[in-house]
Amino acid sequence: KLGCKVEIKTNDEFKHLANAFNIMSTKLNEVDIQRKDFVANVSHELRTPLSSIKLLSESLLHQQEEDVNIYREFLKDIDSEIDRLNKIIDDLLVLVDLDKEKLSLNYQTTYINFLLEKIISRLLPLAEKKHIDLKVDFKEKLQIKVDKDKIQQAIINIVHNAIKYTPEGGVVEVSLYSEGEYIVVKVKDNGVGIPKESLPHIFDRFYRVDKARARSTGGTGLGLSIAYQIITLHQGTIEVESEVNKGSTFYIKIPYSSGLGS
Ligand code: ADP
Repeated sequence: KLGCKVEIKTNDEFKHLANAFNIMSTKLNEVDIQRKDFVANVSHELRTPLSSIKLLSESLLHQQEEDVNIYREFLKDIDSEIDRLNKIIDDLLVLVDLDKEKLSLNYQTTYINFLLEKIISRLLPLAEKKHIDLKVDFKEKLQIKVDKDKIQQAIINIVHNAIKYTPEGGVVEVSLYSEGEYIVVKVKDNGVGIPKESLPHIFDRFYRVDKARARSTGGTGLGLSIAYQIITLHQGTIEVESEVNKGSTFYIKIPYSSGLGS
């Protein structure tokens, strides 16, 4: 009735089938564990700013202070915790969209140079505020078919991190070049660097090397996983080299074949 019939003729075939079933069941278990972990992580990440808001508002309610500036300080903290909650929810919605959009990228032929120029001019004020020298090196005009908005988002996340995790007076350099079948965007900083043991985890959702520092820089721990997912959807890769206190270099590689035939 189902239109197909499983016929087991030999012992070997039975073993194959049992094996396939076990692999499938292990995969399903893994997905279930990942989903539960993700929900637990999301709840924890949302609860942290919520607890701060609760604490701050309770203190405000019990304040006997006459000085209006004290109240203003508390409200400022509440306001920034709300911004943080919004940022986490925005990033989560982007991730949910990316999960859905596996087959529906909006490919357009694009000069990556123009895209990078747009990104640099957007992030320049942030770099200038920290007296960071934001250098660019785009020698060639390189054209590729990508989902412009998504690739822009991925590159912004990486360059933004380079600025965030580089102390005042540092240098961030963004370069573009062609390497065989790939377009490469290289983002190099001379900032705090990433410890070796953290490197395998930095693309995981909510992973941060230093939670306290990431909080003070306003991070959600989702930026790199968003970038990773976008680049993977374009059949590309992100690689990273880093040394603590020396800096990090991210290589975003997108194949020229990305988006062809779509
Ligand atoms: P966040 O919102 O915390 O920046 P990301 O997913 O963008 O989250 O990055 C994950 C973690 O990887 C960061 O918390 C930080 O510890 C580390 N990281 C990312 N980029 C850099 C960089 N350029 N230099 C040093 N550490 C970085």
